[in-house]
Amino acid sequence: MARGPITRRDTFPGPPTAEPAPNPSLAVPLIDLPPQTALQDAIHERHQNARDRILQVFAASEIEALQKQAFRMAGCGSYVDFEIDSDNQTVRRLTHACKSRFCPFCQRRRSQRLATKIERLIRLMKHPRTIVLTVKSMDLDLKAQYRQLAKWFRKLRIHPDVRPHIINGVYTREATVNTRTGLFHPHLHIIYDGDYLAQKRLRYIWHSITKGSDIVWIQDVHDPIKMARELATYVIKPADSDSWLDSTLQQFAAAVHGMQMLHTFGKKFPPEPVAEKPDELKRQKLPTFSLTQLAWQASRDVAPAAAMLVAIAARWPDLGRYIYHQFPQLHPDPETPRGPTSETHRHVNGRGPPRGPPAAVPDRQKLEVEILRQAKALTAAKVAKELQKCAPKQAPKTGRLFPVYREAS
Ligand SMILES: [Zn+2]
Repeated sequence: MARGPITRRDTFPGPPTAEPAPNPSLAVPLIDLPPQTALQDAIHERHQNARDRILQVFAASEIEALQKQAFRMAGCGSYVDFEIDSDNQTVRRLTHACKSRFCPFCQRRRSQRLATKIERLIRLMKHPRTIVLTVKSMDLDLKAQYRQLAKWFRKLRIHPDVRPHIINGVYTREATVNTRTGLFHPHLHIIYDGDYLAQKRLRYIWHSITKGSDIVWIQDVHDPIKMARELATYVIKPADSDSWLDSTLQQFAAAVHGMQMLHTFGKKFPPEPVAEKPDELKRQKLPTFSLTQLAWQASRDVAPAAAMLVAIAARWPDLGRYIYHQFPQLHPDPETPRGPTSETHRHVNGRGPPRGPPAAVPDRQKLEVEILRQAKALTAAKVAKELQKCAPKQAPKTGRLFPVYREAS
């Protein structure tokens, strides 16, 4: 059976909405992926082309781990739940996430988490300094190159001229591709705590260890937040990966599959403090509402469900696109055609959105309170319905709670 590109169950009306793919995939998938739903399209709207490309490239790989990853990514954003916290008057959105390193939707959260981790470690250092160690391109599997690079770095750390100057540190692995040769160019980004190492001396030692590589940069870290963010971004997504060939992307993904991104060395860092939660909160399970369930209830004219959807659409605009597509009658101004968002408009016609008054920023807290209010009404309506079900079908004529049975005379 010939397999085509990613299929969709439904598409949004209007012009194409996603950013044009810089390097569309030509690979033919070897496995069938589940079709994408309208909810997924709304959630992944901003990076739909980039996501489609990764899905297609991974589905076309002969490596089972990448095929599995494509399958998992194809399910990303397939359902959304809302956790209602009445005590704190907040609503938490829980989107089903695939957590893949290559998923553009999950990358952001992963990168933020990694940046926070790196920043914490930098702040524990007295004199943070950064070194970038590179090696000459080798005609080797990328995984083997990373392994070799780590081995050489270990040798550098224990060198008698280097060891006394380094207390501890962290390092990440990065890679770029030489467009001329198509070979990977891996490098290590290191942040260490200790004395300054003379660049000339360091270069000489690195050259003697690697037998020929001498590109070394060393400088002080002035802005830990900026440095941590930069490092996290490139570890999660190599800077030039959008222009890589499909085969290069497959090789890279296969090499970094299951690989730890952040490593520490030297004197042990104090463990990360665990956020303490009160025991009651740990035990207490908060009520949740699923978006699919709310949509089903709204389609059956359950008023609080519909009102809750309207508040959700205002609070989370990406979900709004899905909600108003499913229920155009709920839109505050149903006559106005819903065009692309300002973000997409720029991609479609190459210019910014039309000038006009700035869009009002929704008051998140107010909207969450409204969602909570409707959730309460919905729960009350559900309880009332359940009670109705339990009640006797025919009310006793006598006005008693239970019918009176008389023995036949
Ligand atoms: Zn994902």
